[in-house]
Amino acid sequence: MAIKKIGVLTSGGDAPGMNAAIRAVVRTALNRGLEVVAVYGGYDGLINGDIRPMNLRSVSNIINRGGTMLYSARSPEFRTEAGMQKAISQCLKHDIEGLVVIGGDGSFRGAQDLTRRGFPCIGIPGTIDNDISCCEHTIGYDTALNTCMDLCDKLRDTMASHGRCSVVEVMGRHAGYIALNVGIAIGATGIVVPEVEFDFDRDVIQRIEQARATGKNDFIIVVAEGIGRVEEMAKEIQKRTGIDTRASILGHVQRGGTPTLYDRVLASRMGAYAVQLLLDGKSNRVVAEQNGNLVDFDIEEALAMKKTLDMDLYNMALEISI
Ligand code: ADP
Repeated sequence: MAIKKIGVLTSGGDAPGMNAAIRAVVRTALNRGLEVVAVYGGYDGLINGDIRPMNLRSVSNIINRGGTMLYSARSPEFRTEAGMQKAISQCLKHDIEGLVVIGGDGSFRGAQDLTRRGFPCIGIPGTIDNDISCCEHTIGYDTALNTCMDLCDKLRDTMASHGRCSVVEVMGRHAGYIALNVGIAIGATGIVVPEVEFDFDRDVIQRIEQARATGKNDFIIVVAEGIGRVEEMAKEIQKRTGIDTRASILGHVQRGGTPTLYDRVLASRMGAYAVQLLLDGKSNRVVAEQNGNLVDFDIEEALAMKKTLDMDLYNMALEISI
């Protein structure tokens, strides 16, 4: 029997473009004759029954806004049996027959647990870290890249004016995609990512010295969050090279802001695609983008995939930045 009513929620770390995905889910579903409810506050909202009906106008004027209008949460309770039971009884109470979960890998594990209990879920990758292996671009990644690039450009102006070195920490706990791409885009002298074994002398000091020997006198080293220690590195660079060095941790400003065109279009496509999957009777799938096309994978299969950093890109970046 065809489904009649679906829900949508955002979970885990927020990402710019999540609103565009919510909008697409709600509008696609309504325009195809489904009822749609929004769950506010991630899995916590599902447990507590913070569930509200949506109409075409509920999602007006959000496509251009960062964050998520449905709020997000990290819900330890959802991972308990009691929490899961409460979530399921809320779905039954509200006649929700399918759920679109917009979030990262943790959120997809939760969606998988729900599906296993007989509750069809579809995951949409919304995370700025781009750490969903089956998906080339996750929602929010492009915006975060552009935000980081702008912030580093600003730092560069002052570094160049004073002949300083800047060590900048960008987001990416386990993935160096932001660090690598931002590093290329801003011409960083050094790029430090979790995927490559880190050697402070080789990757930082020697590169600064090499660039300085050819006449460069301001430097930016981009470091992924997973490596961290930027304050310590800045002190050590100053001690070893005599260059006035500052550390900057960009932090949560990288998450926010107006989503880029790319993220809005990607999120819109993924939202529509997710609803179609539910209409086709599919469940436990993650929507992904590959070579510009949307595809979908079993959640378990998607979570087991390993994403590797493009080492040719990394080596090219190092070659052209001195
Ligand atoms: P993200 O989705 O951005 O990776 P989290 O890892 O914080 O963010 O996950 C978001 C929520 O998903 C968690 O608060 C929890 O409720 C749920 N979740 C995370 N991991 C699991 C898991 N292994 N099993 C079930 N639910 C999970």
